[in-house]
Amino acid sequence: MTGGAFLRGEFSAPRLLDSFEKQCLAAILPFLEGEVRPAADRIEACEDGLLERLLRQAGELGLLGGAIPEELGGIALTRTLIARFCEETARACPSFAIPFNVHTGVAILPLLWFGSEAQKTHWLPKLATGEAIGAFALSEPGAGSDALGLSCRATQTDEGWRLSGQKLWITNAGFADLFTVFAKVDGEHLTAFLVEKNTPGLSRGKDEKKLGLKGSSTAALFLDNALIPHAAVLGEVGKGHKAALFPLNVGRLNIGAAALGMAKEALALARAHASTRKQFGQPLDRFEIIADKLARMTQKVAAAESVIYRTAALLDRFPGGSLAAGEEFAIECAIAKVFCTEVLDFVADEALQIHGGLGFSEEVPIARLYRDARIFRIFEGTNEINRLTIATQLHKRLITGRIPPLLAWHPLQDSLSALEAAPKSQLQAIALADAAIALYVEGAKKP
Ligand SMILES: Cc1cc2nc3c(=O)[nH]c(=O)nc-3n(C[C@H](O)[C@H](O)[C@H](O)COP(=O)(O)OP(=O)(O)OC[C@H]3O[C@@H](n4cnc5c(N)ncnc54)[C@H](O)[C@@H]3O)c2cc1C
Repeated sequence: MTGGAFLRGEFSAPRLLDSFEKQCLAAILPFLEGEVRPAADRIEACEDGLLERLLRQAGELGLLGGAIPEELGGIALTRTLIARFCEETARACPSFAIPFNVHTGVAILPLLWFGSEAQKTHWLPKLATGEAIGAFALSEPGAGSDALGLSCRATQTDEGWRLSGQKLWITNAGFADLFTVFAKVDGEHLTAFLVEKNTPGLSRGKDEKKLGLKGSSTAALFLDNALIPHAAVLGEVGKGHKAALFPLNVGRLNIGAAALGMAKEALALARAHASTRKQFGQPLDRFEIIADKLARMTQKVAAAESVIYRTAALLDRFPGGSLAAGEEFAIECAIAKVFCTEVLDFVADEALQIHGGLGFSEEVPIARLYRDARIFRIFEGTNEINRLTIATQLHKRLITGRIPPLLAWHPLQDSLSALEAAPKSQLQAIALADAAIALYVEGAKKP
């Protein structure tokens, strides 16, 4: 199946896990339930070294090498199982899940896809075992959504490359050993570089005080003529946009899967509270309004689950590896991110509502989950930017014949023809993206 097949009503069925995948899941669940979940309060309180220790422990168990082939020390998991890992880690503790997600996703993938043999054999076994923790340093104070408009500079000298500039919001910055840093050579040619933690001229800011994900480490990086070897270029000079953007396709699926895990957790918390809390002489879930809320939340979670695992199965069944599959199904991955993060927002909000005043207290887990949920619509491309991506990609693929023309009665025909040559109006583009999301979700719900 190729990208855009959903426009013709074609969907890949979710994959069942094989026996090796079941063994891997059986290895991660006791770690998450026995070590990570019980430590969630201490992670939230930023207990010194705890998050880093747990990440490295996950590496010792072999759980960080999902994207890495066996010959480079990994366990080469399918996108389906990686999505399941993202779901389960986020269910156990979002402040652990996002560092795990960044390390196993955007920190490892550029190296795996664009690294030289020497870079891969040096770093990937270490990243797989947790001996090294990775980070992805793209965002800057002046470059967030417009990530490729960054201003960090790289200059080649006799001694090596000199990097100067500032990075912002870098997950794992507090303890990462290796940073993939994006900078422009001669102020023009976007390029990715591998920067080690003890590089002269590299320093890290203090961890940000955040609304949610308080236990994760998010900090600025300062590059003051930082000196790195000539061989630290990742991929080709001037081709850094590939290392910056391609990992985001599968990254979006992973973030959607993490959002699904948190939505399931919020639903479980809401159900438990509604079945035990009594008002007017009966449990809350006996009241029609509360039962209706729980039913709507359940429907949305089921739809999100279907979207994630059907999309993961599409990628798994596509020949040519996850780089090619992520590019082929970029629209589907962006839809999964937008839909599941918005399901999470809805479910977390209703779950808190069902808790009443208690939900507003930090004494109960739903309060933290509600705060942690808010960032999901912002990172890995804001949902506005993802909607624009869905619309422009859809339009581009239709006019270049990568997706066959839609029939006149097709549900997207009106919003697509409103765009004429290219998405001129953002609101038209959003309408097209919303129509595509609705079509994909409805299709994914069908048996
Ligand atoms: C906890 C956390 C962890 C993060 N981890 C990392 C990391 O590990 N590595 C990394 O590189 N970055 C990371 N980021 C940065 C993240 O990717 C950015 O915050 C995100 O891309 C949005 O950029 P911005 O914050 O600059 O918002 P802005 O780009 O300033 O956007 C602000 C608002 O304007 C909207 N907007 C922007 N452009 C347009 C447009 N063209 N049309 C319409 N609306 C628009 C956006 O949708 C948003 O609503 C992290 C951020 C956080 C908060």
